Amino acid sequence: MRYRTLTGFVLKRAALREADEVVTFWSWEEGKARVLIRGVKKSTSRLKAALTPVSLVCLQIASSEFMPVVTSARAVKIYSGTLADLPRVAVVFSLFEMVLRSTADNQANVSVSILLRTSLDYLENSLAVDREFLTAFRLRLLSALGYQPVSSTCAQCGRKISAKRPLFWSSIFVGMICGACSRFDASARTLDLPVVSYLDKLKSESFSFSLLAEAEQTKSQAEQLLIEAFQNICERELNSKNFLAASLAS
Ligand SMILES: [Zn+2]
Repeated sequence: MRYRTLTGFVLKRAALREADEVVTFWSWEEGKARVLIRGVKKSTSRLKAALTPVSLVCLQIASSEFMPVVTSARAVKIYSGTLADLPRVAVVFSLFEMVLRSTADNQANVSVSILLRTSLDYLENSLAVDREFLTAFRLRLLSALGYQPVSSTCAQCGRKISAKRPLFWSSIFVGMICGACSRFDASARTLDLPVVSYLDKLKSESFSFSLLAEAEQTKSQAEQLLIEAFQNICERELNSKNFLAASLAS
């Protein structure tokens, strides 16, 4: 039997039979992975550590025909502060949900791992959660997944974008595009300069945004753009899976 170690966070749990659980795990080593924990509901289970809410855990895994099985579990760091109040719990749930929806199985991604860890560190230690937190997380997750929503080059042709000309946003390319490309892109729409500079700040600063004094309209426009972009790439991920399943079946 082959053994290996996975370090990361439990994104989602689902009960299987009476005592077992299937856990969707985000790991440094293999990205998103599904593993089976046997007998975890028994009070004597030594695997309970794996299910400590919001914690960085280290799992020993054995390969098996049905699904990799957890053979030992150890909590490395427990983020109990993220469970201190309901808004924070809701935010943690949203982060995990976004990673679940936007990533493919078994593809390691160091940038996503680092983003998750720094975000939980921030939620653990901050006095209050800024309203911009989720928008910034969404933006950084898109970047970690290989998209560059805010960039000085066109997301389609790669040419430099001049800030003096009208700016365009493409839902298809999930980012800013140049004027020439915008003419052939049905999803293109003009983008206000304040929205671009606001997104730029969310991208570059830490997770503390208390000094950002943009207009509410700018903030909600930026938020909406990213929600749509995110929705788009999740659908693509889903479609490519369906496509793969269909072509394997035929
Ligand atoms: Zn272009």
